[in-house]
Amino acid sequence: MDYNTIIIRFGEMSTKGKNRKDFINLLARNIKKNLLGYNDTYSLILRHDHIYIEILKKDEFDYSPLKEVAGIGSFSLAYKADLFELDDIKNLALEEIKKENGKTFKVHARRIDKSFPYISDEINREIASVILKNTDLKVDVHNPDILLSLEIKPDGIYMFTETIKGIGGYPSGSTGRALMMLSGGIDSPVATYLLMKRGIEVTCIHFAAPPYTNAGVIIKLEDLLSKLNIYQDKINLFIIPFTKIQEKIYEISTEGYPITIMRRMMYRLSEMLANKLHIKAIANGESIGQVASQTIESMYVINSVTNFPIIRPLATYDKLDIINISKKIDCYDISIRPYEDCCTIFTNKNPKTKPKMKECEIIENKFDFTPLLNEAIENVELKVITNINNN
Ligand code: ATP
Ligand code: MG
Repeated sequence: MDYNTIIIRFGEMSTKGKNRKDFINLLARNIKKNLLGYNDTYSLILRHDHIYIEILKKDEFDYSPLKEVAGIGSFSLAYKADLFELDDIKNLALEEIKKENGKTFKVHARRIDKSFPYISDEINREIASVILKNTDLKVDVHNPDILLSLEIKPDGIYMFTETIKGIGGYPSGSTGRALMMLSGGIDSPVATYLLMKRGIEVTCIHFAAPPYTNAGVIIKLEDLLSKLNIYQDKINLFIIPFTKIQEKIYEISTEGYPITIMRRMMYRLSEMLANKLHIKAIANGESIGQVASQTIESMYVINSVTNFPIIRPLATYDKLDIINISKKIDCYDISIRPYEDCCTIFTNKNPKTKPKMKECEIIENKFDFTPLLNEAIENVELKVITNINNN
């Protein structure tokens, strides 16, 4: 079927009134950003129920970027016509359905303009009968090859057979901010994507421990984040010098505790940076049961150093599902590049799956970490990863 218009349906949207207006405006802005290369080939029409894209130059326009815009539930490639008489609509439906492949069909009309003189059922029957008379197509109401949808609106009719699923969620930047703990692995970029898809503006924090960790890690993180620029066009990455803290932890820890203490320090530093940036939530790629530091008991002991909400988008995900998303967002090949992160470099015998709070306190009381934590925050390095062209 031919199309000259795209009907964009919103993903989850529970808000009404002004919030709804803001949602739609933000979504429209993000659509424009994703369609940047196609600027004068379309125009956007904002309505309270949908956004429409009127296509001006079809040969130059490409709708595929819409598949990655957070906040779009689905979109349909529609033929819009200024028709207001049932006979004219029937003729168009017949003409358009002849262009489709398939043996069976169903008509699904919605009368949104209540002044239209026929109810949806009558429209369905009238259109179906003209198609049955003039083609070899048969009706199948349960599993049709061609579903011909029709929306009758005050400004004309929208006809379509093809609807494409969006990624859903909320428009980028519409649901607040979070500080994401980004390592170079598979999980944390996927968690970052899920946050962005939910409308959260993500700022990243990375703990680097040179010379134990390889400088290639930073390039890897930049490469990962540049893939995620599709969902958020400017991402701030804060790199925290973690070496001294890391060394001290290994010096004073008792057996099985370095990872627990290290993660408590990461949470403390995340909280300190979040406070500086006025960010009200911390997020990470933890997945329950994945490793010793991600048991419920470990999370309890590690999490107790902060009162911040900790968002764990992957808490209940299986690794295979995480890998599938990682591939879908084109991060997987980057994530599996070999590197040493600050957890793997220090040999760590029998990490505790059930660490004791008391033992953590005893270890941490052997040394005052506050000056080292402050120093790390003072020496943070910022990298901005963006796909916005600055010239
Ligand atoms: P990933 O989870 O990204 O695949 P990983 O599994 O090696 O990496 P874990 O040791 O499981 O990482 O750590 C769990 C989470 O803690 C990570 O998903 C990430 O959010 C955070 N994290 C770990 N190491 C770092 C680091 N060096 N800098 C920032 N965050 C980190
Ligand atoms: Mg992990």
